Amino acid sequence: AREPLMRLHETLPEAFYVYTMGIGEGYAFFVLDTAQDEEFAHRRNLRASAYMEHYVQREQYMDDWLERLAAGETYVTPGFQQDDYGMFLSGHAPVFDSYGVVSGFVGVDFDLDYYLAQDARFRRIEKASAAAALLLSLLLGFLYARRDYAHRVELDHHYHSSMQDPLTGLPNRRGAMAAIKERWGGSEQSHAVLLVDIDNFKQINDSAGHQVGDAVLRALAAALTASVRPGDITARLGGDEFLIFARSCDRAGAEHIAQRLLAAVRMVQAPVPFTVSVGCSITRGAGGSFDQQYRQADEALYRAKNGGRDCFAVHGAA
Ligand code: GH3
Ligand code: MG
Repeated sequence: AREPLMRLHETLPEAFYVYTMGIGEGYAFFVLDTAQDEEFAHRRNLRASAYMEHYVQREQYMDDWLERLAAGETYVTPGFQQDDYGMFLSGHAPVFDSYGVVSGFVGVDFDLDYYLAQDARFRRIEKASAAAALLLSLLLGFLYARRDYAHRVELDHHYHSSMQDPLTGLPNRRGAMAAIKERWGGSEQSHAVLLVDIDNFKQINDSAGHQVGDAVLRALAAALTASVRPGDITARLGGDEFLIFARSCDRAGAEHIAQRLLAAVRMVQAPVPFTVSVGCSITRGAGGSFDQQYRQADEALYRAKNGGRDCFAVHGAA
C-alpha cells in the first residue's frame, strides 16, 4: 500500500514527509508514511511515524482542518506549523472510498529550512536581475539546469560504472575497447597488445579462498598499472585476464614491457605468491583490426602457457 506514496515522494525532492492519515473523533492518526521504508528514511534523514499514532496539533494552530477534510475539501496550512516532526507547510487531500465517503487523507509536508534556503537564493537572484522577465527566465533556467545537471551526473555515473571493473578499479573490457578505439589506427607507429593471465589461478582460489584470489587480482592490477607508461591502457578483460595496450611500441618495446612486468609480479606483495604468463602481438599503424591483434596475442599467450608459464611469448616469433 505504501508503493504509490513512495512513487509520489520519489518524484518530489522538495517534499519532506508524505503520508496518509485516518480521521478519528476530532483527531487524526497516521496510517502510512514513506519514512516507514527504512532505506528511504535513512537516505532522506526522516523519522517515521508509527501506525495509528495520534497526530497532536498544537493549540495555537487549532482550526477546522479536520472538518474540512472530512467534508471532502483539500486543506493547506495557512503558514508553517511546528509539530513533533519539525516545522512544516503542509498540504492535505482527502481520500474517498468506493462509496464516495472520505476515508482519510494524503498529506505532504514541506520543510521550513528548505523554503528559507530557497527563498534566500531567490532573493539574491531577484536583487541581481533587472526585470521580472529576466528573473523568471533565470528561475526557469536554474530549474532546467538543475534537472539537466542531475540527469547528466546520473548518466555519467552509469556510463562510468559500465566501463569499470569494480574489483580493481581498472577499465573493464568495454572500457578498454572504448579507450583503444580512440587511440587505434591513424599513425604509422606500431601498437603492442599484451595479454596477461595469472598462472593456475583456479588453484589459488581453491586452496587459499576466493577472497585471497580477489586480493591477488587487485595486487596484479596495481603492479601492471605501475609497469606501463602513463598513456598506455591497462584493463581487466574478465576473470584473471588483463590487457595492456601500449601505443608507439615496437617488438623490442613490447618484450621490454613483458619482461618488466614478469619481474614486477615476482616482487608483488600479495597474500600468496603467484606468476603470470604474457602473450604479445604488435601491429603497425592502421593495418589490421584490433580483434585480429587480440587473437594473435591470445595465440602467443597460449604458447607462453604451454611453454611452462611465468614467461612471455610474442606472436610471429618462434
Ligand atoms: P592457467 O594457468 O591455464 O590460466 O590456469 P588457471 O587456473 O588460471 O585457469 P583459468 O585462467 O581458466 O582460471 C581462471 C579462474 O579465475 C577461474 C575463476 O574461478 C577465477 N575467477 C574469475 N573471476 C574471479 C574473481 O573475480 N575473483 C576470483 N577470486 N576468482 C575469479
Ligand atoms: Mg589463468
